[in-house]
Amino acid sequence: MTVMPRPSILSVEPYMGGESKVPGVNRIIKLSSNEGAFGPPPAAIAAIAAAGREAHRYPDGGAVALREAIGARFGLDPARIVCGNGSDELLAMLILAYGGEGTELVMSAHGFMMYDLTGRWAGCRVIKVPERNLAADVDGMLAAIGPRTRMVFLANPNNPTGSLLPQAEVERLRAGLRDDILLVLDAAYAEYVTRPDYDAGAKLVDATRNTVMCRTFSKIFGLGGMRLGWCYAPAPIVDVLGRVRGPFNVNGAAMAAGIAAVAEPGWVEASVAHNTEWRARVAAALEAAGLKVWPSEGNFLLVDFGDAARARAADAHLRARGLIVRAMGGYGLGQCLRVTIGTAEECTLVTEALTAFARG
Ligand SMILES: *Cc1c(COP(=O)(O)O)cnc(C)c1O
Repeated sequence: MTVMPRPSILSVEPYMGGESKVPGVNRIIKLSSNEGAFGPPPAAIAAIAAAGREAHRYPDGGAVALREAIGARFGLDPARIVCGNGSDELLAMLILAYGGEGTELVMSAHGFMMYDLTGRWAGCRVIKVPERNLAADVDGMLAAIGPRTRMVFLANPNNPTGSLLPQAEVERLRAGLRDDILLVLDAAYAEYVTRPDYDAGAKLVDATRNTVMCRTFSKIFGLGGMRLGWCYAPAPIVDVLGRVRGPFNVNGAAMAAGIAAVAEPGWVEASVAHNTEWRARVAAALEAAGLKVWPSEGNFLLVDFGDAARARAADAHLRARGLIVRAMGGYGLGQCLRVTIGTAEECTLVTEALTAFARG
């Protein structure tokens, strides 16, 4: 006899992040975790350094200054913003508070993996709904709802497919869900979207009592290493998160970095312009080389090699050149590799390497 966790814990595979080393290769280009192309904003780097002098102090548990900065930047009420140690922590708090044993969590088949891992950790039955053309299928998701369903997760744009559900479809999903089902709209890539009808989720949060929008500083703001995310929610859900949240869940350096990042002039605009240009250039070049590239609204492209053996060969070809992208077997997309849009030089190198591979 020994100690044992709850049985559902052992069904959870440990999360495998994007790799950052290749044995024997000196210069590594990491395009495996969708980290922004330009590193952290300069003002955020300075704020992190300055925060070191205050490291003996507990941080502001209420994250007041950070919530005010986010609210001002995005036009939202700071009282309805909750900050987390990465948006992953907020997703986990929501699942532990609203899901758990005896409940079902619905997501699309190739939705973000953390919903599945955290849902099973919490003891939920996780239902993955087949997609259409690697995009969430609203009718399928609504058909998967049962009496025990308590939560529906949608990443929009979705990682790793890059697909975006039009606003009318997101609204149709919400309208088709019972009022006792929480819809979590995970907009980790919101800033990158250029489609005019897109709303990251605030509209539905304001219009309903049961919708939450999650956002992150890990992607366009280049602060993945700081672990900083936030959500915007109806007041009763903010109250619940206030009960389950650790008192100092966001550290002082992360908060200072976040405040500086949202104030960095032109950062988002320059990042979006770069991403939009290079995402199109890489996609066009790979398609010209005969590869299939799925449409993406994020800072990454899902490249489809047709079968898993060819995707593995492409991955090996890239690795030998120091280029690390993300293998997709864990997502049931073994025939694909996910390539983050990096700097112009990084995009050029990965495009040339994949073009050479495709041409044999
Ligand atoms: C990267 C990512 C997150 C996690 O962000 P953190 O704030 O770093 O925890 C959440 N959702 C999606 C869809 C992501 O791609």
